[in-house]
Amino acid sequence: MKITDLKCAIFGQNPVVRIVTDQGISGYGEVEASKPYLKPHVLYYKQYILGEDPTDVERVMLKIRKLGSFKPWGSAVSAIEMALWDLAGKAAGLPVYKLLGGKVRDQVRVYNGAVRFPLADSSPQAHAENMAKMKESPERFSIIKQGIAFHGQMHSQVPNFMYGEVRSGSPYASRSLLTEQGLKHVVACVEAMKKVLGDEVGLALDCGPGWTVPDAIRLAKAVEPLNVMWLEDMLTGDYTPYVQADLYREVTRSTTTPIHTGEQIYLRQNFQELIEKRAVSIVGPDPCDVGGIAELKWVAEYADLHGVLMAPHGTGNGLLGLAALVQVAAAMPQNYIAFEYPMGRPEWWYDIVEGLPDPIVKNSFIQVWDRPGMGIELNEKAARKYLREEDGDFFD
Ligand SMILES: [Mg+2]
Repeated sequence: MKITDLKCAIFGQNPVVRIVTDQGISGYGEVEASKPYLKPHVLYYKQYILGEDPTDVERVMLKIRKLGSFKPWGSAVSAIEMALWDLAGKAAGLPVYKLLGGKVRDQVRVYNGAVRFPLADSSPQAHAENMAKMKESPERFSIIKQGIAFHGQMHSQVPNFMYGEVRSGSPYASRSLLTEQGLKHVVACVEAMKKVLGDEVGLALDCGPGWTVPDAIRLAKAVEPLNVMWLEDMLTGDYTPYVQADLYREVTRSTTTPIHTGEQIYLRQNFQELIEKRAVSIVGPDPCDVGGIAELKWVAEYADLHGVLMAPHGTGNGLLGLAALVQVAAAMPQNYIAFEYPMGRPEWWYDIVEGLPDPIVKNSFIQVWDRPGMGIELNEKAARKYLREEDGDFFD
């Protein structure tokens, strides 16, 4: 089998990758909804993969893997990798999880980072009310993640929250030591949310990036009695093009609260120090940013050898990204906790993707399906309606 074309179209805001072959089958991958600008970046790789056998996934990846980087510049490579696995599975007549080593579990646990309701303000009461709505959502999530402090509006809305300035521009531009009032406000919000969830549903907190080391330690110690699932991306994280494992290690060693990072990190090599130093308790690579699903599997295996747990990121990955997450989560070792459940937005995504269970999530789990490849299909007829004019030849 040979690759004859690489195409990319924007559906809604998600770039969708299609790898076309000389045998009449295609493979699909998807990039986060926040990155429609990546289409030319995806197409840049076409020159390197034309004529290659897509079922030799690793040999194709060796041609392009070094031409990517931390979020958002690893997404195009990652989506191509997923499309290659989709093709390899379809060609073999096997679900992708079989090619990744086989199924470890029949159902995969997901956590809520996508089913959202508007937050009235940054008060503890608003956080409690918001959490109550998420707790009642029909997916019955067993873990719910909420943004606090620098991850969201809290740092800019709460008066006298921090000593530094609120900055705009690139994502998470603000970084500062908190005032005592600011720190107490964060803790009060966490307490209010925990009161709603009790010990029935786990609470994970996306915190930054933006914290300093001393404040990160203070927060982690302050919430120790609350048994939160993890504190995510306090020091570096989302859209940070570096890791700083030693700083994370200092925080992690000083507390019993699990510390989490990794959604922006590209490639297993960039997880090496974090994992070998056990600088965090949990890593959360995103298959749409880390370099793909096999890359995620390698990180998971290496993390498991070092006692580090896995909670992959995925909120913006859309329904093709969801399928990829299900395949790799089925094959992950026992350090797997749950992945962040992505949704299709706009709503019509559910009309153009076939093969998903209905409902998708029951009691916080998704049953792993057994069809070849990623096991879902774009319904060409339905999907054509949503093609942009410039993407008119996507299915041709
Ligand atoms: Mg995050």
